[in-house]
Amino acid sequence: MRTVAIVGRPNVGKSALFNRLARRRISIVHDQPGVTRDRIVTECQWEGAPFTLIDTGGIGSDVDTKFTEQVAAEVDIAIETSDLLLFMVDAKAGLTTVDQALARKLRRSGKLAVLVVNKVDHDKHAELDLDFATLGFERTVCISAEHNRGTGELVQLIEALLPPADEAAQRTVDAPVELAIVGRPNVGKSSLINAILKDSRTLVSPISGTTRDAVDVPYRRGENAYVLIDTAGIRPRGKVDSSVEVFSVMRSERTIRRADLCVLVIDASAGVTSQDQKIAGQIQEAQKPCIVAVNKWDLVKEPGGTAAERKERLAEMMEKIRPELFFLDYAPVLLVSALQGQGMTRLFKAIEEVREGAQRRIGTGQLNRLLTEALELHPPPTRTGKRLKIVYATQPDRPSSDTPIPTPTVLLFVNQAGLLIDSYRKFLESKVREVEPWPGLPLRFHLREREARGRRAHVR
Ligand code: GDP
Repeated sequence: MRTVAIVGRPNVGKSALFNRLARRRISIVHDQPGVTRDRIVTECQWEGAPFTLIDTGGIGSDVDTKFTEQVAAEVDIAIETSDLLLFMVDAKAGLTTVDQALARKLRRSGKLAVLVVNKVDHDKHAELDLDFATLGFERTVCISAEHNRGTGELVQLIEALLPPADEAAQRTVDAPVELAIVGRPNVGKSSLINAILKDSRTLVSPISGTTRDAVDVPYRRGENAYVLIDTAGIRPRGKVDSSVEVFSVMRSERTIRRADLCVLVIDASAGVTSQDQKIAGQIQEAQKPCIVAVNKWDLVKEPGGTAAERKERLAEMMEKIRPELFFLDYAPVLLVSALQGQGMTRLFKAIEEVREGAQRRIGTGQLNRLLTEALELHPPPTRTGKRLKIVYATQPDRPSSDTPIPTPTVLLFVNQAGLLIDSYRKFLESKVREVEPWPGLPLRFHLREREARGRRAHVR
């Protein structure tokens, strides 16, 4: 998403400009602790493609934060989350030291910025902006947000400076998905790989990976490209002793880290064992997209019985498996039979659904609204007298790596990262997933403390 943030010290007219650009009045809800306010984010559309507009002045302040620190923190958030900054100053008040300090901060960030001189209400005020020339901004626009002067010029400049709308959409989604088929010995990994390859009726030649014993098998299915990675660790068949078990766990860890998506294979006839849980734990820890394939379904689904009875047996089994893999609760569970080649179409359909889901994002406005509601509905517990506050949330649209299945990440600006306890994190996750379920995908919360002292990044 293309994002524009309005920054500047209080009273320069940020919210007036916000309303002008949004072309509507957005009510300012009274300040509630821990709650982001409505006026922070909105979608705007003028001539060109829509963009997201942030009024950093709407970002909640801490009672115990000094105002200069507060403004600096707002600017930090703007720098981190937007493509273009509108740095607002007040022509009537003239240049202040806070303006100068903010200008320095903006210049240091290297972010694209426009100096917006507000309160130039008449032509005769035109020289009021001369003062601000010393700030050294390449682009300056004089406006009167209140009298709606100069908005057109500003909008044109915004449209010219923002990156094109389709750039994000063009991000490559065609890169092959590196699939790791993982699981303890004898669950049927090699059988599954054979079933997959047989199903495609394409001849593939394995290529050696970086390490001597890692073998990656490129594979196409219809339009989509995959690589079945590290298939060498999966021996065709054979006896299993405990050293093989240990070795396979060590090996799976490496494979999981390399994969874009893990297919965790479970043996339906054995149920979920502690070894399965160990591997599931590795997937969860590595925060990898995952699908659980319950194999050997043919052994469990007895041929007899009516369709309703079979359905019931299936439901029973799912009920048993789910809770035992509770920490991988984002992973869809599918039934397959590698031996009979059943479930391959469904498996790849699920993989494609995960891949497509990873391209979806929640708009910043919606995200802030839903978190606000969540915090109101169920306020976070206090810890040593302090309560978690979420001042601003956004889902950055450019994933840090260019994997074909990027993990959805929500950036949360909070008062103190330590106040987000695990159960509350889970609650917030469930609320986010009500809007965007993201099947097969872990959800990462990236925490930024925005208290001035020692801002640190935390990942939850
Ligand atoms: P791996 O160690 O995970 O690679 O497991 P294998 O693919 O070597 O399979 C272990 C055993 O389970 C073999 O005897 C397979 O024939 C059997 N097996 C694999 N998949 C299925 C299945 O879907 N149904 C049944 N009944 N047996 C299977």
